[in-house]
Amino acid sequence: MILLDGKQVAADIRRQLREQVDALLRAGQRAPHLAVIIVGDNPASLTYVRNKVRACDEVGFRTTRIDLPADISQDALLAEVRRLNDDPGIDGFIVQLPLPPHINEAAVTQAIDWRKDVDGLHPHNIGLTALGMPSLVSATPRGIRELLAHYNIQTAGRHVVVIGRSNIVGKPMAMLLMQRPYLSLPNMSASALGDATVTVCHSKTHDLRTICLSADIIIVAAGQPALLTADMVRPGAVVVDVGINHIEDPASPRGYRLVGDVDFPDVAPRCAYITPVPGGVGPMTIAGLLQNTMQAYTDSLSR
Ligand code: NAD
Repeated sequence: MILLDGKQVAADIRRQLREQVDALLRAGQRAPHLAVIIVGDNPASLTYVRNKVRACDEVGFRTTRIDLPADISQDALLAEVRRLNDDPGIDGFIVQLPLPPHINEAAVTQAIDWRKDVDGLHPHNIGLTALGMPSLVSATPRGIRELLAHYNIQTAGRHVVVIGRSNIVGKPMAMLLMQRPYLSLPNMSASALGDATVTVCHSKTHDLRTICLSADIIIVAAGQPALLTADMVRPGAVVVDVGINHIEDPASPRGYRLVGDVDFPDVAPRCAYITPVPGGVGPMTIAGLLQNTMQAYTDSLSR
């Protein structure tokens, strides 16, 4: 069994981006600039935003963090989004989710200029992705694609089971995997992407176990600890665990520990490759966001 080391691969990607930024600066250009809007003080969101800003700092991107109060009105938030849309000095921005319940997330996502939508959530980008055209792809599927490519894991002709149908992970992941490679996005090794036979499963799927047992590759993004157990995985399969779950653990100084959606100790010995949690998909998601920001910056230069 080989661990898919997202931490290492993400560090390599950051190093490459740093070199690109240094070259831009040497050529007299400005660095890419990411803005992050955060509404309220959800502790998990604050941690994610801190990690994203730190990663930007490491690669030399400029960042602007905009903290807004939890009781901000939807109109005021939309005004902030429009301000960033109109700011030529901002290449991309994200509105950290989840938003407070009084705000309509879809309305906010759709207000973002799709060319700056580095979370890849705007319907225009999702439509382009579905058509196999260049787009800003949601950072987690983008990162998983990079991870599979790095380990030269082939998807062509293989059966991939995606567990979860969210707009941010499951759906775009399935779209990328089923794509014909010649239509795929730039800078990717075609051998590591697309042409898969994809089954998307969700909370209403019957007999998940039988479906998973026929999978060459399983990508789990359900938010359910130990959903994928050893009896669901055929020997030699590839398992990618997207889940992030906080489990109470009195032995840990924080009182909890992070686990994914896979029963790792039992599943790992059966696998050819598997991602750990933490250190698998998480760092690749941030790497995907950085790559999207560089892509938005580069695209803006050609307009
Ligand atoms: P979501 O809650 O929007 O979607 C979960 C999906 O899982 C749904 O489509 C649901 O139908 C499906 N599901 C739930 N229980 C199931 C079951 N028992 N059997 C089959 N399907 C089931 O979640 P999301 O935003 O896609 O995130 C999923 C998980 O991935 C969460 O734990 C989240 O924290 C994590 N996540 C991690 C990263 C990362 O960088 N590692 C990024 C995004 C999300």
